[in-house]
Amino acid sequence: MSAATSVRRVTAPECRSTRAAMHDYLTRRLQPRRQRRFETHLDRCADCIRAFIDIREISWNRQTVSQAPQGGRPSLVGMTPVQCARHR
Ligand SMILES: [Zn+2]
Repeated sequence: MSAATSVRRVTAPECRSTRAAMHDYLTRRLQPRRQRRFETHLDRCADCIRAFIDIREISWNRQTVSQAPQGGRPSLVGMTPVQCARHR
C-alpha cells in the first residue's frame, strides 16, 4: 500500500457524473432535478465536495477578473459634459 491516497481514482458512477456536472452547475445549466441530485451527492461525498470547492474558486476568480475592467469608467466620463452644460 502506498501513501498516495490523494491520487485515488474516481470509480463510482455517481462521482463521475457529479464531477462531469460541476461546470454546468456553476453556470446554472443543470436541470432542477439534476441539480438536486448533484447537491445531495456533494452532501455525502467528501471527495466530490473538495473537487467542487476547487472548481468553484477557479470560476469565481475568472468572473471577478472579467467583470472588473481596469481604468475606464465610461459613465463618469459621460457625465462631465452634462454637468458643465448646466452651469452655463
Ligand atoms: Zn462523489
